[in-house]
Formats: sequence, structure tokens, C-alpha cells
Amino acid sequence: MSNTRIETKCLHAGYSPSKGEPCALPIYQSTTFKYDTTDEMGQLFDLKADGYFYTRLANPTNDAVAAKIAALEGGVAAILTSSGQAANFYAIFNICEAGDHVVSASTIYGGTFNLLAVTLKKLGIDCTFVDTDASPEEIAAAFKPNTKAVFAETIANPALVVLDIEKFAKAAHDHEVPLIVDNTFATPVNCRPFEWGADIVTHSTTKYMDGHGLQVGGAIIDSGNFDWDAYGNKFHGLTTPDESYHGIIYTKQFGKAAYITKATSQLMRDLGAIPSPNNCFLLNIGLETLPLRIERHCYNAQIVAEYLNAHEKVSKVNFAGLPTDKYYDLAQKYMPNGTCGVISFELKGGRDASVRFMDSLELANICTHVAASKTMVLHPASHTHRQMNDAQLAEAGVSPGLIRLSLGIEHVDDIIADLDQALKNA
Ligand SMILES: *Cc1c(COP(=O)(O)O)cnc(C)c1O
Repeated sequence: MSNTRIETKCLHAGYSPSKGEPCALPIYQSTTFKYDTTDEMGQLFDLKADGYFYTRLANPTNDAVAAKIAALEGGVAAILTSSGQAANFYAIFNICEAGDHVVSASTIYGGTFNLLAVTLKKLGIDCTFVDTDASPEEIAAAFKPNTKAVFAETIANPALVVLDIEKFAKAAHDHEVPLIVDNTFATPVNCRPFEWGADIVTHSTTKYMDGHGLQVGGAIIDSGNFDWDAYGNKFHGLTTPDESYHGIIYTKQFGKAAYITKATSQLMRDLGAIPSPNNCFLLNIGLETLPLRIERHCYNAQIVAEYLNAHEKVSKVNFAGLPTDKYYDLAQKYMPNGTCGVISFELKGGRDASVRFMDSLELANICTHVAASKTMVLHPASHTHRQMNDAQLAEAGVSPGLIRLSLGIEHVDDIIADLDQALKNA
């Protein structure tokens, strides 16, 4: 049953109980797993036999959910991490080391921007940021002989810029490196980046996949399409012996699963950002209803974006579902069924009007979170970008009156009634 549709995969992929086994995915809340002989366990440490021995390296609950997410994205293998930040760090660090370089789209999540611009720099990995809307020539100019990867987000959080995936995939492949795409906002329900040339996909499962704001988590999925062996020893961590693992050559021993196996047996072993089985169980419940929720999130976002766009107190709405939006055409190409449930807008009254609007909301929660079942709202100038003055805000592309609104799955009339009364007070 591998050719089922995504709605079906969300329920059935990754775990198929046999006769008499539980229908719900069991929580294997155990750090360790028992063996009968010394040699049996020794074979596991050599990666010569398959089996569970310690939850930092593998756990049946975690593995089932990873397999489900791999199926949703159309990849060959996946690994779950304890946060989206850990996922993006591992995805890059799995193929980059001190002396290497990454090309990244500029409109990315703030945490990932800091990871690339500050923390990875301290580890000796440099990054050049390119405008997400840059021409192929401008993107090509950012590459260096030591470039090992390209990074971007399908729908940028919070800029809501839609990525031209094929443009970035071509730039990466022309320079013999993989494209890593953070697909958190679109989710595999609306966009599957592997179908457009991406090689590795990452997620903050904290957002729509969990969907209820319950737990922080991440995922990395490999398409299995990038040929690590084809470019000499450019990706030598995958193509030459790993002395910390008895001289294993990942591409030789694991083929298409090389990248994920290395992330597990090396990065997870040494850095340890594993999610708990209990959190993976909760993530799995979120995944079961993902397509239903995404449909409603996108429907509500469309109606609300149209409502705000027509409102006299609103100066601008950013949402790729509006035909007037700069990213409408790219969204139609890459995610024709919808983008995501997050929109942003500006009030004509600027900063003060935005604060009055926010403080008048009754249904929408003021939260530093997005992409969950309840409607949430944030005023970047008062919250995430609070330390900046108006000139610095302008440089960061955040106007003082900008409001980020993450539409939940409430009835849209109730959301609009709340926005309407708050706009009256703005
Ligand atoms: C939230 C988010 C992250 C970081 O994920 P955490 O789970 O909070 O660590 C990374 N990328 C995107 C696009 C996000 O929205």
C-alpha cells in the first residue's frame, strides 16, 4: 500500500500492527532494550545487525513516526530531533565541517539565521546569504569552492516569501551540492520539495505537524537522490571510512540511507538531541489529522486575508493566496491547494494602532508561536524584534505596525468578528 494518497499515509504509514497488536502506536517509554548474549549486542554496536539498544540511537515509537514523515515527503529515510533548530543544525553539520561554506536564502526563520550567521561561524562554517528573489546569476555568484550546501525555506517564517524551489535546486546542483529545504510552513500536504529537486527536507514539527502547541520537535528527511559519491571526496564524511564507527563507509554500507544513517550513528550519538518517545506519540496523533487541519487553516487564512485586504484601516496584507501578492504565481505553481495559515498585515495607524488592536483582541491569543489549532497573533515590533528602533526595523523588513496572524481552525466568522471589533478600537 505504498501508493496511497497523503491523507491515508498520515493515518497508516510507519506503523502496521500484526494480529493482536495495538491499533494505536505504542509508546516504548524505555531507554534500553534487552539481549540474551554478549555477541548479539556487539553486532548492534558494529551496525552489522538491526535492532534497538539505546533510545538516543533508535526507539520503536520514534522510528515509526520518522517513517511516517519520510513517507509523507516521499523520502527514503528520516530522523526525528528534539527541536526544529536541532534538525536544521544536524542537516547542515552532517555534511559541513570547519572550513566549509553554505549558501542560504536571506528570508529564513530568525533562529536559523542566527544558527548560520553566528553559531556555525564559531564552528568554522561560513555562510553567504542571498536574496530569495535573486536571479540565477546572483545566486551563482555566492558559491565558493568550499560550498557544501544550499539552504532555504519553502514559505519563509515570518516573511511569507515563497521559494522558487527549482531555481535554488538548479543553482545547488550546478555547483554539485545538495539543496536543503525547511518545509515547516507548507507541510508535505501542500508542497513536497523533493518533487521539485530538493535533496534534503527539514521540519520544525512543533508547528502544523504537532498542530496543537503541545511539544517542540524536528525532523530531517532524505530524498535519497543526491549522489554523494559522484563528487570525489567533497562529502568525505559520507564517502570515506568513519574511524569513530569501525571504519564504516556510509555510502557503501547504507546506499540511499547513508545520510540519515550518519546523522543517527554519528551526530545523534555525539550531540544527543533526541525527542522523547512520549513526544513522538503526541506528534503522531497530530500527523493523523494534518490534512484536515491544513485545509481549514488555509481556508480561514484566505477568507481573513480577503477581509483584511478590503478593510479601510489596513494598509497592506502579505499572503500568497491573494492574487495581488508578489508570491501568488510561485504559490500557484508549487502549492496550488494552499500555502499556509499564517498571514501578516500592516495598519495605517502604525505602531500605536497595532498595539491598540492587539490589546483589544478577545479570541486570538497573543503568543510567540504560530501554526497551531488556535488563532495566535504577534506584534514583531513589541515582541520578537523589540530591541530594534524604527530604523533598524525598516532594515530588517519589519514595519512598526506589522502584525503576524496565525489562523487557527476556529469558525472563520468568529475570527472575523474578533478582528472586526479590535480594528474598531485600533
Ligand atoms: C519554528 C521554526 C524553526 C525552529 O523550530 P523549533 O522547533 O522551534 O526549534 C525552524 N524553521 C522554521 C521555518 C520555523 O518556523
